[in-house]
Amino acid sequence: MNDSVTRLINPQRRLEDEYNSLRPPLYDSVAFDFESSRDIQLAFEGRKNAFAYSRVNNPTVAELEKRIQDLSGSIGVIALSSGMAAISNAVLALAGSGTNGVIARTLFGNSVSLFRETLGPWGFESRFVDMTDPAAVETAIDENTRFIFLEIISNPQMEVADIREIVDAGNRRGVPVILDGTLTTPYIFNAKAAGVALEIISGTKYISGGATSTGGLILDYGNFDWGLNPLMKKWSQSFGPMALLVRLRREVFRNIGACLAPHNAWLQILGLETLGLRIDRSCENAMAVSKWLTENNKVSRVDYPGLKNSEYHSISIKQFGNRFGGILSFDLKDRETAFRFMDSLQLIRRATNLNDNKSLILHPCTTIFSEYSKDECDEMGVRDSMVRLSVGIESYKDLISDIKQALEKI
Ligand code: PLP
Repeated sequence: MNDSVTRLINPQRRLEDEYNSLRPPLYDSVAFDFESSRDIQLAFEGRKNAFAYSRVNNPTVAELEKRIQDLSGSIGVIALSSGMAAISNAVLALAGSGTNGVIARTLFGNSVSLFRETLGPWGFESRFVDMTDPAAVETAIDENTRFIFLEIISNPQMEVADIREIVDAGNRRGVPVILDGTLTTPYIFNAKAAGVALEIISGTKYISGGATSTGGLILDYGNFDWGLNPLMKKWSQSFGPMALLVRLRREVFRNIGACLAPHNAWLQILGLETLGLRIDRSCENAMAVSKWLTENNKVSRVDYPGLKNSEYHSISIKQFGNRFGGILSFDLKDRETAFRFMDSLQLIRRATNLNDNKSLILHPCTTIFSEYSKDECDEMGVRDSMVRLSVGIESYKDLISDIKQALEKI
């Protein structure tokens, strides 16, 4: 089975089920029974593979993790309650007070807030840099740098860095790359081949299959020697390449408690079956809509890496082939015009999610980035005139008609 759509629908490994159910069983249970006290002791000590308590692991959640592992070629996966839970768990396992991270200056607003507002008071330093400048990334690294963090296509700026070059810069200094691959997923971008250490995905988006549930994933590609991190030394000596996943499962992830509900894992397994079809369709739609937008004189700027005139087009072709994701941003005259345009849309919904089956529009400056001043937004490349469109799987002709009638009203 070479075709990835076929593989997504017919995964190699399936949860054992005595009735041969074609849908995976849903184990919506908190705890699991043991034959003996000795067995439960061995399970707690990690000497016996068993499900004990669903905050730590659960058969339905494990099935989702296995399927993501097969899809991505990673050495292991941990599924969590949201994308933000995945980012914070990974970061808390690797960094601490007195350490720093080299972080993209263009990121999803809540990730910016996590690094600046939430982790700052714990003594963690965020060094925001331009990821399209690998030399600047390398310069920002010092002996206390614990990771480099960036998004595969930044949300909402649509910036695309050369991941291989960032990985190489990190490798020269012994620093792993954590990539937020939410906008592409392993279906579009092969993070393992690019040398990425950890990939983070918000399962809430493409994977959930139409905004059915929130979820997050940490994928370890086995590309980094965790023993280089002082916090990980002991774990690395015992567990080698599995050190980070084991430490998360037995300590950080277990203790923070941001586990994925079994029902949400079950929904996301179903979502995975149609992942390829939905991604293909939304990418085709986003391409058609962005091309149309570039020809409209009321639109002053369109940012989509699939456009030939995008400064990120050639690196995007190299990294993604012919699929450039389902998100694009464009600019109108100013905020008032953007609001009038959004309020005139009849098909496209005003909502804050992305990679839903439905097309969704948002004004980033007054929503996701509303906690930041105008200067801070400018610094992050979030303009007041910008709207972000998450293109769904409707007919692109209907989407363009809706955009056209709304533009006529501004
Ligand atoms: N990463 C990116 C690029 C996102 O756009 C989002 C949410 O929009 C997240 C992470 C966080 O995901 P979640 O909402 O599942 O916590």
